[in-house]
This record gives sequence, C-alpha cells and structure tokens, in this order.
Amino acid sequence: MTFCASGPVRKSAVECIYCTGTLVRKPVSYTVSRRGYHLIVDAVPAWVCDQCEEALFDEEAVRAIQDMLAEIDRRVESLSPSPVLA
Ligand SMILES: [Zn+2]
Repeated sequence: MTFCASGPVRKSAVECIYCTGTLVRKPVSYTVSRRGYHLIVDAVPAWVCDQCEEALFDEEAVRAIQDMLAEIDRRVESLSPSPVLA
C-alpha cells in the first residue's frame, strides 16, 4: 500500500520532499489556530527532517486531528451563539 504525494512512504530511510534530508520518526507539538480557539497537541507522531526540520504527519494523525477540530468547532459554535466582533 502506497500513499502518493500525501506523505512519506513507510520504509526504513525516508527522504524529505523539500531538501532530500533524512526524515526521523518523532513526536512533535502541533499547533492549530482556528476561529475562536487555539489547539496545541503536545506529541503528535510525525516524520521530521534532520536538515530543514519540516514535519510530515501520518495519515492517521492528520485524520485524528481533523476529527478533533471538527468536534471542537461544533462545541465552540454552541458555546458562542452571539459572536463578538463579527
Ligand atoms: Zn528537509
């Protein structure tokens, strides 16, 4: 099973798509700024380039974060029925 263009293919040596550096598996902090809130996830599993430090996230991690954001979006909306400074 391969994923085209959406992330590194899982093999022992993964190359950075930006600088051809080597991607290393490690958790990184992921910050999202949305309308009405900011979300910081301390440790999201990712592939991080040892040269340019660009982080690429696994499909599962991206999906999990998107699910989280969808859920938080819904709840934030229900918290603020009358937006200030709309
Ligand atoms: Zn790189």
